[in-house]
Amino acid sequence: MRNTDIFNSTPLDTQSRLHLLYGNALGGLAITALCMAVLCFGFNTPERQSATTSVFLALLFVHMLRLADNLYTTAQFNSSNFNVKAAVWRFSAGIVMNSVIWACYSFMFVPAMQNIEITVSAVILSSLAGGAVTILAASRVLSILYMSSLILPYAAMGFISEVSYFHYISFLGISFWAVMMLSSAQAGKFVAETLLLKNENSTLLALMNIEKTEVENVNNQLVTANKQLDSYNLSLAAEVEKRTEEIFRLSNLDPLTHLMNRNAFLRNLKKTLQNPANASANYAVLFIDLDGFKDVNDGFGHKVGDAVLGEIAKRLQAIEDAFDLESKTETLLCRWGGDEFLVCAGYSAESALKNLAQDIVNTISSPIQIASNNITLGASIGIAKYPSDSLDPHALIQYADISMYQQKKNSKGEATHFSPALFDVFQYNQVIRDGLKNALLNNEFSLVYQPIVDIQEQQTWAIEALLRWRHNGQPISPVEFIPIAEKSGRIIEIGAWVLKHACQEAATWTFKSKPAVSVNVSSLQLLDSRFIAVIDEVLLQSGLPADRLHLEITESVMLENGELAQIQLKAIADRGIRVSIDDFGTGFSSLNKLQTMSFDTIKIDRSFLQGLNTKDRTIIAATKLIADEFGAKTVAEGIETQAELVVLEGLGIRYIQGYLFAKPMQSGELNHWINTFTQSTEQYSDEHG
Ligand code: C2E
Ligand code: MG
Ligand code: MG
Repeated sequence: MRNTDIFNSTPLDTQSRLHLLYGNALGGLAITALCMAVLCFGFNTPERQSATTSVFLALLFVHMLRLADNLYTTAQFNSSNFNVKAAVWRFSAGIVMNSVIWACYSFMFVPAMQNIEITVSAVILSSLAGGAVTILAASRVLSILYMSSLILPYAAMGFISEVSYFHYISFLGISFWAVMMLSSAQAGKFVAETLLLKNENSTLLALMNIEKTEVENVNNQLVTANKQLDSYNLSLAAEVEKRTEEIFRLSNLDPLTHLMNRNAFLRNLKKTLQNPANASANYAVLFIDLDGFKDVNDGFGHKVGDAVLGEIAKRLQAIEDAFDLESKTETLLCRWGGDEFLVCAGYSAESALKNLAQDIVNTISSPIQIASNNITLGASIGIAKYPSDSLDPHALIQYADISMYQQKKNSKGEATHFSPALFDVFQYNQVIRDGLKNALLNNEFSLVYQPIVDIQEQQTWAIEALLRWRHNGQPISPVEFIPIAEKSGRIIEIGAWVLKHACQEAATWTFKSKPAVSVNVSSLQLLDSRFIAVIDEVLLQSGLPADRLHLEITESVMLENGELAQIQLKAIADRGIRVSIDDFGTGFSSLNKLQTMSFDTIKIDRSFLQGLNTKDRTIIAATKLIADEFGAKTVAEGIETQAELVVLEGLGIRYIQGYLFAKPMQSGELNHWINTFTQSTEQYSDEHG
């Protein structure tokens, strides 16, 4: 370790040493003053009185200065402008002054001392010297100086004394001084090490404090950042919640009615039916389809249509709430799409279910006021039950849909419950729908022909082409497949096929009466924008004159899109093609509508000829009257008996179609039939003149 002292140490070390020195000084001053008092006044010798008093006062004076310095310096220790060097010099000056006074004491008083005083003063000075080594350990220079000033002058004076006993004391004093020198070296070393450790500690502490402050700063920054993050998180959480709600709304609710959408309904239906708590409960799925909604959309526009759907949704919601309250269950309600709604309701008695269905029909049927429009709709409902009809949610919805479809066809105005027979019909229709997809491609269609006879002229006036379909080797009636082909839109291509083949066939006929070919045309076909072009092309390709083509349409086409139908019929008439109104009397006949149509023939439906009661006769007579008024011909279809023929003849009906004359036949059979028919009529006229 480097030999350092208060005079050549680092400022920090010097300051620490000053702390020690000043800290020990007050006790030292007190003991020194006390010892000096004992030495000066303990041995009462009047001849030294004034000298000892002076020395004592000089010591007191120095002590006063040192005391003042002590108070001043210790007060300055913590001040930022504490002058370390000045304090070192002030302290050193104090020690030097004390040392001088002790040296003076020895030089002045030792020569005149007696044995007892020699011993006492030797003990006191040695004690002070010993104490000084410890008290002044922080400065080896000062401690040696002070300790030496106590012992060496005294010993020196002892050696030159005449008292031999004093020589021994002096010798002991010198020995003690030597020990004190060593001790002072040890104490100095110890102090130096202690201070070094202390200072290192302080440095470490200071570093730790700096680090602590830095850590605190970083901590504070982290806390601030955390707070910011917290507030971000809060607003993020709010945003996420908002988005989640939005996503929920978009993915679960129908935007127009705010009822559940398909996905949400299906999910909730599954949950309800799979809930073990509901295992023994009865549920019904009600499939609701609005009757007449298409007319609202077409007639009033989509805005009114949307408002109607919104109002219906509100009414259904109210019914649902009332039902829930009464049955203490939770009903599910959704907009399935378009004008279709679905309800799933738990019920305990059939009567409750019946009432619910009736309430739904009633609420939908009561008039809806949108702006100045008073709208009245109806509802068709199909019902499938859990668990009796099915346990599967998808199947329940499908069965309810099938039942609704059946109910719509029957239009009974009340709900139809699902039955396995309904499902068979559905499945059969499905087979037809699938089969129709490739029927044309697979050449599964053919045409048969049924003559329409002019009973006045006894000749074939026209021949109706009727479509036949054999699917998987089985004949399927047009009554079954035509409506399905119409629903899927396939009737347009099928109808074009019929038109083409019928015209091609008719163009080959060489019958004397030049009968026209009568082709059935569905409404969808007639209203199709390409229809007239198809006719033109078919006539061109077949070479059939336009006046040998009759088109049979039903009056319902005028209800669907009267204006377009009118335009198309006009284009047909312009080409010289004749138009027959088929199945007359079975649709919503409206004379008003009839007036707007271009037509040449009315075909009275078979249903009026089956019983031929008075009422039927009146209708036939009235129809004939209407046809005459419009300048049209009247055909009666489905005549099977001679008796029916007689009645019709009596009513003045000239054109007859029916099994009585001919069943629909293959084109190859026509020739034979016409020959036979001509022969029989010629024979008849020969016989009857
Ligand atoms: P429709 O046009 O009124 O045809 C008359 C239907 O009555 C035919 O049934 C015919 O076979 C049947 N019929 C004729 N005379 C008698 C009779 O004396 N007694 C009985 N019981 N029935 C008679 P079909 O061929 O089954 O056709 C049924 C309906 O299918 C047709 O009624 C027509 O609306 C539709 N249809 C047939 N072919 C076509 C077609 O090519 N296109 C379109 N759009 N519809 C077609
Ligand atoms: Mg027909
Ligand atoms: Mg008919």
